[in-house]
Amino acid sequence: MPVDRGSAERTEAAAGDSTTIRTNVAQGERESLIGLTRDELAERLQAVGVPEDRLRMRAKQLWHWMYHRGAVEFGAMTTIGGALRAALAERYTLARPEVAAEQRAADGTRKWLLRFADGREVETVYIPEEDRGALCISSQVGCTLSCTFCHTGTQRMVRNLEAGEIVAQFLVARDSYGEWPSPRGQRLLSNIVMMGMGEPLFNYDNVAKALRIVMDPEGIALSRRRITLSTAGVVPMIERCGAELGVGLAVSLHAVRDDLRDELVPINRKYPIAALLDACRRYPGASNARRITFEYVMLKGVNDSEADARALVRLIAGIPVKLNLIPFNPWPGAPYECSAPEAIERFAAIVNRAGYAAPVRVPRGRDIQAACGQLKSASVPRARRREAVPQAVSAPAA
Ligand code: SAH
Repeated sequence: MPVDRGSAERTEAAAGDSTTIRTNVAQGERESLIGLTRDELAERLQAVGVPEDRLRMRAKQLWHWMYHRGAVEFGAMTTIGGALRAALAERYTLARPEVAAEQRAADGTRKWLLRFADGREVETVYIPEEDRGALCISSQVGCTLSCTFCHTGTQRMVRNLEAGEIVAQFLVARDSYGEWPSPRGQRLLSNIVMMGMGEPLFNYDNVAKALRIVMDPEGIALSRRRITLSTAGVVPMIERCGAELGVGLAVSLHAVRDDLRDELVPINRKYPIAALLDACRRYPGASNARRITFEYVMLKGVNDSEADARALVRLIAGIPVKLNLIPFNPWPGAPYECSAPEAIERFAAIVNRAGYAAPVRVPRGRDIQAACGQLKSASVPRARRREAVPQAVSAPAA
């Protein structure tokens, strides 16, 4: 696959900074610079003695090395003087999280199990296509949502990921394909889907900070049009996401009646279907050119009847929607089965006839448990609390 890696850049060693370099930081206490804003980077530079009038310039250089060139150590930053590089290395780190496991599926899908400094783990999945590829990024360790068909939902919620831990998932995947510096043309890692473990709108601040870094034109420079955030329906945060980030929206619908959706996607008890659809109608930037994706998992005998398909068509009338029919990916002990292929076809045909695209998602990476809802299947299961309405870890600002 041809990849334009951009023109090789000439680097030159700048004269060392005429600053007093502060050191003396104990080993093992180095702060990661991944995930900081430019202003925060400037603060960290100030802390090692970079003078006020050079902060912006130095922050810009750091940014370029971290996010355009993919530097993993300060020693590689040849436009920054040796003394400053050494001071940065003493206090800070650009190290990636540990890759605890990496698996490749027969279809080219790759999955990384990443372990963070506190020992917590998440999974990140790369799904290659002909001339592009999407990285499926996690936003939380575990999940509070308890969707009954989702394996991640059977696991205990542990914590939100920091912005740096979200960005680092992208960096690890990029490192693994050697796709540095950020290509100007075609890319292997051309898209991001916030569809991994967790509910991204329950960790909005960190997700937003991470996505702003990824979209920054002087670094990874991924267009907001190539990013899709999937939510189970945290209605108060949907509008903010559209207004502030402008990324594509995907909504895990999965049922057309509140009684059934209450069971499958329990956050529906708090934000029922009508409220969710209203938020979709108002989603900033949604248009026929930029449709909202409705995900619909096909569960045998549960939500896959022809009557369901017809009700779905009535429900979405007037909303710029494309449907994504996801065959249920089974996991050990799952209380559901995947709909029969004929049932999926009949369902898709009804939706198609009504004028909506309804591609059936071909499951990817099933052989390495990398498909939707299968992530981090080896972690500790929790007792299912079906009565509990899921809560944000920190309450989302309405
Ligand atoms: N919390 C967000 C992000 C997770 S995205 C959300 O709910 O949208 C993962 C997508 O895979 C969601 O649409 C989810 O409903 C779907 N999914 C979960 N488990 C699945 C399974 N076992 N088979 C197929 N799709 C599943």
